[in-house]
Amino acid sequence: MTDSLISSAYSQALEVIASVEPRIAEATRQELTDQRGSLKLIASENYASPAVLLTMGTWFSDKYAEGTVGHRFYAGCQNVDTVEALAAEHARELFGAPYAYVQPHSGIDANLVAFWSILANRVETPYLQKMQAKNVNELTEADWETLRHEFGNQRLLGMSLDAGGHLTHGFRPNISGKMFHQQQYGTDPETGLLDYDLVAAKAREFKPLVLVAGYSAYPRRVNFARMREIADEVGAVLMVDMAHFAGLVAGKVFTGEEDPVPFAHITTTTTHKSLRGPRGGMVLAQEEFAADVDRGCPMVLGGPLSHVMAAKAVALAEARTTEFQGYAQRVADNAKSLAEGFLARGADLVTGGTDNHIVLLDVSSFGLTGRQAESALLDAGVVTNRNSVPSDPNGAWYTSGIRLGTPALTTRGFGHDEFDMVAELIVDVLSNTEAGTTKAGGPSKASYTLGDGVADRVTSRSAEMLDKHPLYPGLVLS
Ligand SMILES: *Cc1c(COP(=O)(O)O)cnc(C)c1O
Repeated sequence: MTDSLISSAYSQALEVIASVEPRIAEATRQELTDQRGSLKLIASENYASPAVLLTMGTWFSDKYAEGTVGHRFYAGCQNVDTVEALAAEHARELFGAPYAYVQPHSGIDANLVAFWSILANRVETPYLQKMQAKNVNELTEADWETLRHEFGNQRLLGMSLDAGGHLTHGFRPNISGKMFHQQQYGTDPETGLLDYDLVAAKAREFKPLVLVAGYSAYPRRVNFARMREIADEVGAVLMVDMAHFAGLVAGKVFTGEEDPVPFAHITTTTTHKSLRGPRGGMVLAQEEFAADVDRGCPMVLGGPLSHVMAAKAVALAEARTTEFQGYAQRVADNAKSLAEGFLARGADLVTGGTDNHIVLLDVSSFGLTGRQAESALLDAGVVTNRNSVPSDPNGAWYTSGIRLGTPALTTRGFGHDEFDMVAELIVDVLSNTEAGTTKAGGPSKASYTLGDGVADRVTSRSAEMLDKHPLYPGLVLS
């Protein structure tokens, strides 16, 4: 029954769209075809359920709702209140968090909310107290100057980009790297693993206001109890960005010291990666930060996307089921299968394996840069992204690695055998790709030649697996 409902819902919706702008309806159909036909190994992507997707396409999109539940700057928000309160309740109960803020439009926005609330809560300045007391008008220009100086000179310690950290953890291309005085901790150069003693030594020396844990390209679990100990020792606020692995926390794969929520002062996340919800962000916090996090909109966020908050509530309801826990466990098991598949075929993995949803393949042993590997794989229908490896000799643009993740294909039903085959196909492509040369005759970091017949061979073998595990089975567009 649901299959035919979903098929007719989307077929009719596309007809309505086509009556106004047929090219958008066409691109939307094509996107489904393309997603169905590609081997998606992008670690940050997934496939949300039709219920989540359908929830986003409604009139909630038309409503302005700045403020918080029951305290809006616009009239007529009673239904948005229902939606936001329910999404927050699901989030609190799912993650065991005292407080949840579901308005952030994305992961970056969730981090901005967290940074603001940490500054507001922890920077001791009489000017800020006046500001919080709403006596802003009493501040002189000199007061503001001092305030800006105090805010702008706070210290943040985060994981370095090439060890797997994220741009928003204090790096220059992101505002976090400009608003904070920042330093980084890396991983052990031998093992590629986080060395907590080194993090602690750095924290003692640097004395950050904010210690950020979390990653987007580190293939291992983190001990958040230990990170909290380090933060406490130096009086820092522990902020954990679980954007990538929230689904493994929700699905109870990461428990005890591997669950960040009880240990972090503030936990941020996206909702669209392993958590498999709509594109968006979320902040979980201990009580002491709740009032500051609540000021996220309009402090750093625009009006909440009510239709997306509704979809977050639906996705969080899904994540509270035992089915989702099974899914999360398969995501981690499949990553192990993928890693073992590579190791059995002689490939190099950063840290020698994985215990989360990410596998980081070092492609230098194939004589390739990450850029060449990514392009050659794409020619064969394998969608990945290039990624730095620790102390990457090729820098952040060309890189020496390929990041792979299991959340999306696990949603399609891939298991151990399929992921072993994925490793075989990737090794087939990379061992049959030759790095090109530059005009001057030196080695090129970008050009490459893929051996004859490889793309066809790999495409047809992945098509067999993709056909066996269709995306949105039962969804047929008329
Ligand atoms: C993906 C990611 C983000 C950013 O999420 P957006 O929704 O793209 O803004 C932030 N932090 C980490 C660790 C991430 O992996």
